[in-house]
This record gives sequence, C-alpha cells and structure tokens, in this order.
Amino acid sequence: MSDATDTHCPYCALQCGMGLRAAEGPVPVSVVERPSFPVNQGALCGKGANAAAVLAPGARLTTPLVRQDGVLRPAGWPEALGRIAEAVGATAETYGRDAVGVFGGGGLTNEKAYALGKFARVVLGTSAIDYNGRFCMSSAAAGGIRAFGLDRGLPFPVADIPFTGCVVLVGSNPAETMPPFVRYLRELQENGGTLIVIDPRRTRTAELADLHLAPRPGTDLALALGMLHLVVAEGRTDEEFIGLRTTGWEQTRAAAMAHWPEHVEAVTGVPLPQLRAAVRMFCDASSAMVLTARGPEQQAKGTDTVSAWINLCLATGNAGRPYAGYGCLTGQGNGQGGREHGQKADQLPGYRKLDDPAARAHVAAVWGVDPDSLPGPGRSAYELLESLGGEVRSLLLMGSNPVVSAPRSAHVAERLRALDFLAVSDVVLSETAELADVVLPVTQWAEETGTMTNLEGRVILRRKAVDAPGGVRSDLEVLHELAALLGRPEGFPTDPELVFEELRRASAGGVADYAGISYERIAAEDGVFWPCPAEEHPGTPRLFLDRFATPDGRARFTPVQHRPAAEEPDAEFPVRLTTGRVLAQYQSGAQTRRVDALNDAAPGAFVELHPALAERLGVREGDRVAVVSRRGRTVTPARLTTAIRPDTVFMPFHWPGEGNANLHTNPALDPVSRMPEFKACAVRLEAVAP
Ligand code: SF4
Repeated sequence: MSDATDTHCPYCALQCGMGLRAAEGPVPVSVVERPSFPVNQGALCGKGANAAAVLAPGARLTTPLVRQDGVLRPAGWPEALGRIAEAVGATAETYGRDAVGVFGGGGLTNEKAYALGKFARVVLGTSAIDYNGRFCMSSAAAGGIRAFGLDRGLPFPVADIPFTGCVVLVGSNPAETMPPFVRYLRELQENGGTLIVIDPRRTRTAELADLHLAPRPGTDLALALGMLHLVVAEGRTDEEFIGLRTTGWEQTRAAAMAHWPEHVEAVTGVPLPQLRAAVRMFCDASSAMVLTARGPEQQAKGTDTVSAWINLCLATGNAGRPYAGYGCLTGQGNGQGGREHGQKADQLPGYRKLDDPAARAHVAAVWGVDPDSLPGPGRSAYELLESLGGEVRSLLLMGSNPVVSAPRSAHVAERLRALDFLAVSDVVLSETAELADVVLPVTQWAEETGTMTNLEGRVILRRKAVDAPGGVRSDLEVLHELAALLGRPEGFPTDPELVFEELRRASAGGVADYAGISYERIAAEDGVFWPCPAEEHPGTPRLFLDRFATPDGRARFTPVQHRPAAEEPDAEFPVRLTTGRVLAQYQSGAQTRRVDALNDAAPGAFVELHPALAERLGVREGDRVAVVSRRGRTVTPARLTTAIRPDTVFMPFHWPGEGNANLHTNPALDPVSRMPEFKACAVRLEAVAP
C-alpha cells in the first residue's frame, strides 16, 4: 500500500490525480504519480510535478499583514479580523449593504465557493459578489444553457474522446495548458479519428492536427457560420435528429445561409478550400465533437460564438448521443464547481437562479433565513471591479489576483486603490494583496481537504497531506470568524465535510444536484459525476442521451450573426493582439512565478510576432518591443515565429508590470455572459532602442 496521500493537482481544470509523500526539508511533501486516477493515469505536466514548491515557508504567507502608515506590517489574527469586521460594518452603515463587495475565485474548493456566497448573502446582505471565473467560463456557460438548458463543461468523460470520429478544438491549446489531456487526442488519431485545430497560432496542439485553420482573432463566429452554410449547401444536415430532438432550426438555417463562404473567407482569413476540407472532415466522421476554450469564448460576442459552434453540432446530429457533442474545456482548477454554488452574481447553490422565487425559498430554508432577506442579483466581475471606490467602498477578495488577470488591468488597479478598504485572503502576497489594507494568509491545496469539480463534471476530493505552517488559517475559518464578529456565530462550520453536507442539501433538486455525493463515495469511486440526486444514483457521466435539460427535452438552436470585434485594427493601432498561456506558468502566475523550475522554463513576458511584421518594424529576435494600445504600453522581448499570422501578435498573460498583457485587453462585455473581450484588441508595435 502506498504511503502517499491521494489528492489532485492545485492548478488547472483537468485536476490530475497525484500522490503527496512526506519529505524532509523546507518543502514538506513530494509529488508522486497516481496512475489509478483515470483522467491522467499518473501523467503530470511541469506545473503539477513542481506544485509542492509553493508549500515552502519562504514561498508563502505565514502571518496576517495589516497596513499601517502606508506599509503592510505583520499582525495577529484578532487584529486583522477585527479590522475587517470594523471596516465592512462601517461601510455598510454609511453607504448601505451593497457598498460591501466580495470577489471570489475559480480555484476555490466547492466548499469555499459555497460558504463565500452564503457569507455575502446572509452575513453581509450584499448583492455585490462575483468572481474571476466570470472571465473564464461565462460565455460557454451561457451558450450551453441557451441550447441544452444546462451548463456542464463536458457532457461526457474525457475518456470518450478517442472513440469519436472527429474533434474540432476551437481556441484551445491543451498541449501547453493541460498536456496530459493530449493523450486522448493522440488515441483519437490512432483509432482513425481526425483532429481539426482552430487557432490564430500554429500552437503545439495545432502541430498535432490533421487540419489547422488560423482565423483572425475575433472571427470564430464567422468561421462556424461558414461551416454551417457549407453543411447545409452540401446536404450534410441530419434532418431526422433536427426534427426529433431540436427546435429553432429554420431561423438558424436562414442566418447561416446569409453568411456566404466567400465572405467568411474574407472575414476570417481562412482560405475557402480549408473551410471546405474542415466541413468534409467533420461530416464524414461517424460522430464528432466540438470543444471550445477561451479563444472563442473570451470575446464580446462569446456567447453567440459558442452558440454558432453548438448549432453546427446540432445541425449534424452531433449531440445527445454517445461520442458526440459540444463541450467546453474549462480552465481554472474549479472552474466548473466554482460556477455552480453561489459565488456568481446571479446565482444560488446547485446552479439555482437568485431571481427564482422557488430557488430562493429552497436555499433560504437550508440557511435558516427569510427568503426575502436574500439580496437580488449583483454586477458581473468586471462591472464590480469598475464600481470599486464608487458604489462599492470595501471589498473582500478571496483567491484572485485581478491586478494581473483582469482586463484593462491598470484601470482595475486604480479602482482597487480607490477603495476605502480592501482585504485579501491568499496563499502568497500577490500583486493584488500588495494593495490591501489587510492580508490574511490561508491554507492551500495540500494543507486542507475539499472537493473540486473537474472539467468533466466529476466531483473529486483533494485531501489534506500536510499541516499548514503555524499562523495560517483556512478560508472556512476566516469566514467563520468574520461571521461571528459580524453577529452570526452559527452557520459557518470550519470542517469542510460539514460544509459539503450542507451544500448537498442546498443543491438538492437544483440543476447541479450534488445531493447523492458524499466524501465517502468520492473516495470509493474516485469521483462522482453530477447530477447525482440520491445516494443510490450512479452519477451522470454522460448527459442528454435521452433528453436535453430544456422544458420540452429538445435542444434549442439559436440564430446568430457575425459581428466585428469591439475594437478592430485601424490606422493608429493596426495589429491584432491575442493572449494566452504558456506551458510552465499558470493564470496570473501568483503561485507558479514562485517556483524556480517553472521560472527557469518560462522566465518572463514576451511578444510573439511574425518575421514579416518584425521586418517592417526593424525588430530582430530578442529585441525589446513596445506594444501600445488605447489602454496601456508594455515593453517585452520579441519572439519571432512563422507560427503566428502576420497581422496578429500574441502575449502570454502571466506576468505583472511592464509585461502585463492585460494592460491592453479590452473590457468590452458580452451582452449575455458579461465576459470581457480578452482575446482580441488593437495595438501598435514600436521598436525600443536598446
Ligand atoms: S495538466 Fe493541469 S491538473 Fe494536470 S498537472 Fe498540469 S496543471 Fe495540474
């Protein structure tokens, strides 16, 4: 029997299984393989393999900090928590309850996300809560709900992928973001299936593809419409499926037929023969999957773009049957569970809606409060950040680093500075924590137990493997203490299993129903797929096989039209900027930038550009280049590659300061999901003198 504690990686939504074994030295555990976990079967990327480094005392916070005379100094917990309780109390009294804001994170466990949402609604009585997952998943969620009546990233396990006939990956680069996932793509090809990758860059994933289409950033919607046009024109629709299992086809068909392939070629820059080849590959397959990620989703038309890809699946009968369908490859570790249990502005646990009287009554009964005492829906993440220092005067922020990760990040930092009071609960002193009035050092990953829900909708258990350093508390303890200081000594347990038991009751009967899932079951079964409404229920690895989750059981087509990016290139800013991740760093880098092995592999920001563009600018490999947008100016080394379109440049978004890609990104919001347009904005490049 292994002496390692079975757990999961702290980073991305694949939630790879791993073991942690006690170790000597400053890093108290070492990561070992756990081949028994089916998703990754022991494989880990560099981030997971080096995850234990952030447990070393030197890498992390070990004492609360409070601001005095403009600087952060160490403090005891009573002083730190007392300062928070006093500040939020004063804000609520002076400006009203909605002047106290809460900002959560997609990396928080289900228990923390649940408790944070409850704390905001029950203790603070504020509607001003949202979280950084809004920046990650909201367009896919909105598109999924619109079509299927339910949002679960993947409606099937990743193990189904090798058994479909064709996979279309849209704006996703798993070879760098989640390398163990690539095994499924290779197995697909070994089984005779085909892989189409749609990305403005010839990424490591695109290198694996049977066909790579490289559209201009922000034109994925046109591309999907062009493919649907050709599907119809070539008589490749599945009329039986459309007739039996969908509604709304005629309007969608008409919308697609208005997008002529020649026009789509002009808009996207994808040659028509390639578009035709993609349609052939997709339609010739016995079944097909379309998997989107942040590329098409992080747009001011992200929801419509997702709908366009779903329409393509529905029109060809690729939904609601085995080895076929639309899915979203969720990014953050708990990007799925974090969007289900109430830290979202419009949401109650179990994916219930805050404006639904029956949902309010159910959750209020579990919480032991009057349904009328629950606030209504609040602002989305960027709108909440925008309101700081205005309508929102004090903010509690948990597990997020918007100074680096929010769009128009310099403006967001300004708004954070404009607050009367900012408290940040985090593992490390992130760039956002540096601005806080109070910083709380909290437990992380291997130091605490909690559940996560991976990109498949599989609820898994991260187990505690090591004691946290003295002076560190868990987020659940923080919420318990603050609730008590604010007059609610009951209702915020610190034991994660007790919180989960309450979450089960609160989610019972909801869309994301966890009622039948227990810690014991998760441990025994290595994860349980929701919905799982009863202990005898097996869980639901595959959704929609009999019916979709709409009132009539049919999937809904949504007619959509292409529209340009909110900020198209012009004479002043003639180049498109798109952003993304690199293999060795994760999100805002708050943790991974503290790991030597990862920094050695990816030490800093850069801008990737095509040699033809570089030549026009007089830039050579490694030269420092200024990228200038309407929102900011970065200076980073140039990386020249023919793998990117000549009209587009790419910056990874993991670094703060003069290399922060999000200085440029555009906060134009999708009208449905309120997702900012991270993936397409206009910039110009300037050579910088050595
Ligand atoms: S792929 Fe994701 S979950 Fe797996 S080891 Fe890497 S970062 Fe961790």
